Amino acid sequence: MPQHRIAVLPGDGIGPEVMGEARKVIEVVAARFDFAISSEEFLVGGAALDATGNTTPLPEETLNGCESSDAILFGSVGGPKWEELPPDIQPERGALLPLRKHFGLFANLRPGVCHPSLIDASPVKNSLIPDGFNVLCVRELTGGIYFGSPKERREENGEEVAIDTMVYRRSEIERIAHVAFQAAQGRRKKLCSVDKANVLQNSRLWRETVVEVAKGYPDVELSHLYVDNAAMQLIRYAPDYDVIVTGNLFGDILSDEMAMISGSLGMLPSASLGEPDEDGRNFGLYEPSGGSAPDIAGQGIANPIAQILSLAMLLRYSLAETAAADSIEAAVEKAIGDGFRTGDIFSGAEGEKQVGTAGMGAAIVERL
Ligand code: NAD
Repeated sequence: MPQHRIAVLPGDGIGPEVMGEARKVIEVVAARFDFAISSEEFLVGGAALDATGNTTPLPEETLNGCESSDAILFGSVGGPKWEELPPDIQPERGALLPLRKHFGLFANLRPGVCHPSLIDASPVKNSLIPDGFNVLCVRELTGGIYFGSPKERREENGEEVAIDTMVYRRSEIERIAHVAFQAAQGRRKKLCSVDKANVLQNSRLWRETVVEVAKGYPDVELSHLYVDNAAMQLIRYAPDYDVIVTGNLFGDILSDEMAMISGSLGMLPSASLGEPDEDGRNFGLYEPSGGSAPDIAGQGIANPIAQILSLAMLLRYSLAETAAADSIEAAVEKAIGDGFRTGDIFSGAEGEKQVGTAGMGAAIVERL
């Protein structure tokens, strides 16, 4: 029987509430699909700051626990209580970014999915997305303008100047392009690369490299969009797109746009992956696309689906437990199809049943 080990980092706000539901799902799928999984919990974010007297949001014990695991299931971190702390120890900056860096998590996969029965929750007109949509945004996560140097403010001719530097190496573009092409091969075999090649040198290298990598994936149809056009096209007709691959800055913005037009942040998982090993398995960090939602924390009303689908991505990409991942995704679809709705996706339409976090978790577990 395969033995897996995952580090569970619930974090703050709604994190522990939605993680509780994901943990119930872990137990059911492990029993049903015949694998053993140990899932130890570690402190992260504000919870770790509270426990360590505001010393660190990422204690050494947590990092060690992640290192000895096959993957990390992350909740979310942050909240008003810790916003006044020095930037370096604030929950997101002091925990999430160091985790990404430490494990070389360069590929961020964010599905933007609007379920056909949830099109009313999307701000896009129903007539444009009659059957919903399912787009996967693959964002390069460790390069580009967020990390290039120099990155500074200085004075020039008596005036303040701020400088950020956008750098992409061919090897960085190649590895993210491979992730995106392989993702497209497992889906509808369409990849759209987004850049600003009409203006940026970085983007010219990006486009040339993606075209080169495409030769190894003749079964995938490749197209290109400038980022400004991509921002418009995704709103105009998201169902046209399957997988999108783009750099760090453009991916940051477009993946949030996808989340917005999908309807609710509470539905969307994400994966941040490193290099695959020889068996094609990746170490990864899996988390909901949204944050700790302090406005609804502690009320038992948060939508646990993003966390549960993050678990499905973990099973698929890091543990190669594809059947278990498929069954979780199918159970979520079924629960939505049967009318179960948390407050964020409840429209009051006939057949909808409003439930809380535990009610949605139970509806999914029953359908596994
Ligand atoms: P947020 O994503 O937490 O909340 C935005 C809105 O979406 C809120 O109205 C919230 O109630 C709703 N929402 C989010 N997840 C939901 C769910 N599962 N079910 C129902 N509704 C949900 O963003 P924010 O308010 O900008 O940030 C709150 C805190 O989270 C901040 O401290 C921020 O730094 C942190 N944050 C953390 C992460 C992370 O851990 N990766 C990401 C983003 C924000």
